[in-house]
Amino acid sequence: MKVSVFDTKPYDRQFLETAAGAPDVGWRFHEFRLTAETSEAARGATSVCVFVNDRLDDACVRRLAQLGVRHVALRCAGFNNVDLAAARTAGLTVSRVPAYSPHAVAEHAVALLLTLNRRIHRAYNRVREHNFSLTGLTGFDLFGKTIGIVGTGRIGRIAAQIFRGFGCHVWAYDPIPANAWAAENGVRYSPLAELLAASDVVSLHLPLTPESHHLLNRATLAAMKPGAFLLNTSRGKLVDTTALLEALKSGHLGGVALDVYEEEEGVFFEDLSAQVLPDDELNLLLTFPNVLVTAHQAFLTREALHEIARVTTENLIRAGAGQPLLPDTQLA
Ligand code: NAD
Repeated sequence: MKVSVFDTKPYDRQFLETAAGAPDVGWRFHEFRLTAETSEAARGATSVCVFVNDRLDDACVRRLAQLGVRHVALRCAGFNNVDLAAARTAGLTVSRVPAYSPHAVAEHAVALLLTLNRRIHRAYNRVREHNFSLTGLTGFDLFGKTIGIVGTGRIGRIAAQIFRGFGCHVWAYDPIPANAWAAENGVRYSPLAELLAASDVVSLHLPLTPESHHLLNRATLAAMKPGAFLLNTSRGKLVDTTALLEALKSGHLGGVALDVYEEEEGVFFEDLSAQVLPDDELNLLLTFPNVLVTAHQAFLTREALHEIARVTTENLIRAGAGQPLLPDTQLA
């Protein structure tokens, strides 16, 4: 069985090659991303293994099927980059890793907030230059503050529970509320507008869908409490970047931490340190002292990589043998 792995980074290769059953897989690792234009690289493979910024649109999916590919294994949870209807029409099986480590992502969201609020990133740089001044490093106590969790699935629930551990009030919004969990954990569900108005920190933990695209836009950002912080570790396109910049420039938002960015494709996961970035909105965001950006690294823990490799490899082997895939992993 031949598998073309796209957008491969050294850590992907390390964990895939050491997963159980990996020696039976004919791995072909490509560093470039999968698009309709690069799909030729999958010739001769029966499966492709892809990540968040590979673009499996209608043209790409049809080309894969023509090349003889039968299975698309996403080594991530989100699948907004795959045209599932086209995949079904083309007769492709599509699988993902629905929950590799929700703790990894929730803990990263909290790490971003603590760093940004307590100015750890700035303090680290100052101290290394023997600047021991504290001016400009004032944060706020999380204890007693209101945190708004948008999306209480696997990750959002863990984030909520961590914030409860800090002594925060946690409000939540989800079209499918988990009422028993909320009652057990002292979490209060409310409509989105009320959550935005009440929260000192809003943390996004919902998927990107046509309905949630630009959930945070000029109107909803304006509805947030003045001085509030926004955390996005979910998907970049949940937030309208132009409106976010306006809300930061006017001083309406107190701080923004992003692990995902609207136009991250082709930028995040790459070393572009010797190049000029053509994206002026990203350039501007990176100049603000109250903005913290990480490059889609929330998932990056040993535990998560191990689980991603385990589930992906198991499904590749099962699909290759014509066996049913692992429960809850099949999308098409
Ligand atoms: P999940 O499917 O367990 O939970 C998502 C929740 O969002 C569900 O409860 C759903 O009802 C809710 N939801 C759907 N639409 C909503 C809306 N319009 N408003 C509010 N809630 C809504 O997913 P999860 O495992 O918790 O992951 C959440 C998201 O985190 C994923 O969709 C993915 O985009 C992102 N993610 C990011 C990383 C990273 O490295 N940064 C890693 C994994 C996942």
